Formats: sequence, structure tokens, C-alpha cells
Amino acid sequence: MSEAKVKVVEDLPGVGPAIAEKLRDAGYDTLEAIGTQAPGTLSDATGIGKESCSKFIAEARKAANIGSFLTGTELMEKRATVGKLTTGAEAFNELLGGGVETQSITEFYGQYGSGKTQFVLQLAVNTLLPVEQGGLGGEVAIIDTENTFRPERIISMSKALDLDPDEVLSKIHVGRAYNSHQQMLMVEKVSEIAKERPIKMLAVDSLTGAFRAEYIGRGTLADRQGKINAHMTELARFGDLNNAAVVVTNQVSSNPAAFFGDPTKPIGGNIVGHTSKFRVYLRRGKAGKRVCRLVDSPHLPENEALVSITEDGIRDG
Ligand code: ADP
Ligand code: MG
Repeated sequence: MSEAKVKVVEDLPGVGPAIAEKLRDAGYDTLEAIGTQAPGTLSDATGIGKESCSKFIAEARKAANIGSFLTGTELMEKRATVGKLTTGAEAFNELLGGGVETQSITEFYGQYGSGKTQFVLQLAVNTLLPVEQGGLGGEVAIIDTENTFRPERIISMSKALDLDPDEVLSKIHVGRAYNSHQQMLMVEKVSEIAKERPIKMLAVDSLTGAFRAEYIGRGTLADRQGKINAHMTELARFGDLNNAAVVVTNQVSSNPAAFFGDPTKPIGGNIVGHTSKFRVYLRRGKAGKRVCRLVDSPHLPENEALVSITEDGIRDG
């Protein structure tokens, strides 16, 4: 079969109806979904032999143009599909170049109480707004690892935006993860939901808490970093495939003795940093305000914006 004709999963050489069904059952129903997998992962998920998976992945990559070079023009076209989600605070939106971007991971890190969860909840509500109002006109999935999702806050923030709180709550899908293993598996669950619902934002709050609790001591550090890295790769893929914003939170220790070295360094260190395109450091400022500092962005200057956390939600400071 010539490569030009490969348009759907069934067109891949060697994929008959039975194999196609196995792939689809495991959630691999597009060439993109297959082409972005590692052979081992695909094999484990589908029960298809690793060698066959390798072949399918290579063919899917060719057909879907994955892993090949794109021209600057093509990349500009891809950038043009990026959506911008308002944070509720204009100065902070500006700092981010218009808002939180889809097809990227944005990381909020800071100490306990710095406002990370408030940002997640506000961005969740804002995602439901129409595009003209700074939203993404879609639904939301939150992987909650610390049991800090609060419907009451969603209701207050919705009312403040003249949104129907019941409708908003019905469009925010919250999955509670009790350990890092469940947390990682939940990205697959969200991909399932995204087939039926237009999930335009996926948040993991907290990205690193469970890993931090489970992997203690330097001996297991490399292992932990590897797991966080794999998790981040899955999250980035979700954002790409669904044109969704991906928001993660990361707590830094307030006790200098509690962690290795620098207490203001986010957990997961460089691994999280290299996969997050936008990193925002949150800290308490004067009079209950929060200072949002954009750190290490590929195309924006490092700068700060002041916001307030109010009963209505995040607003300019
Ligand atoms: P983190 O997730 O970084 O630990 P949170 O996002 O939970 O922190 O932030 C908690 C803070 O948010 C509270 O200390 C308070 O200052 C503020 N906050 C929470 N709810 C409200 C509210 N209804 N009105 C005003 N401020 C609030
Ligand atoms: Mg929190």
C-alpha cells in the first residue's frame, strides 16, 4: 500500500480489522496517537507484539508527518491555532503574551498558600467562556492529587462571570488520584473523556506532591525524575492532540531544611522545567496580593505581574 493512501488506522500496512480493534480499544484511534508512542508503551497497552508496534508507529509517523522537519511557514500555521486562555488578570495575561496557551504546559510553582490551586480553579471556570471573552469555549479535566478541588469556589467564580454555576460544574471533570501511579493513569482516562467532550484544559494539581511523598531520598531521585518526565510527556501530548491548555502545579518547600538544597527551587527541578513552556513563580506580596513571575519562557521576557485573590477569583492586583 502506498504511503500517500494512509489516512486512518486501518490503512496502516499489517493492520487488519482485529488489530485495528485492539488499537482503538486501547484508545489509539488516530495516526497521531499511534505515531507519538514508544513501541513498548503501545505494546503494553494493546497486547500487540512490540515488533509489530514498532512498524505501525513508523508508518503512522510517516503518514501523519510526525518527527519530520517542518518549515518556518508550517510552524507559523501551527502557532496560529494556539488558543489563549485569560487568567482573569489583564496585567498577568499580558505578561504571558495574551494568556495561558493551548498546546503548551504552564507550570505554577510556589509555597503552600501562594495561590496555585486558586489559579487552577479560575482557569477552569474561564475555559468555559467563549473565545471572544478570553475563554476556550470548552470543558475541563482536573487531576486532583491533594483533595483541594472546591465546588464552592467554582460557584463563586462562575457567578462573578455571569455563568450558570450548575452548568460550569457539570463541565468540569475531576479525578482524584491517591498516588503517583493513579495520577499517571488518569491522563489516559482524560483522553477517553476527550473523545466525547471538548476538553480544552487539563490541570494536574499537584503534579509533584505524590512523587515527592513516595520517592524519598537521593537513591530514588533518578527514578522519580524519569517517572515525572514520562508523565509530562503524556501531558504535553494531550495538549497537542486536543489543542488544550495543560496547567500543572508544583510546590516548593517553605522549610529550607526540608529538601535538598535551594528551598525556592521547584520539585522535579530541570525535568519539569524543560517540559513546561511557561513557568510562573507565585509568591505572597504586600496586603495579601500575589506576585506572579514568569521564569524561563522561550519567547517572552522574564517579568512580574501583581494579582489579587478575591471572593470573585483572580483579578488584577
Ligand atoms: P496553594 O494551592 O498554592 O497551596 P491556594 O491556591 O489554596 O494555595 O491559595 C489559598 C489562598 O487563596 C488562601 O490563603 C487565601 O489567601 C486565598 N483564597 C482562597 N479562597 C479565597 C476566597 N474565597 N476569597 C479570597 N481569597 C481566597
Ligand atoms: Mg493547592
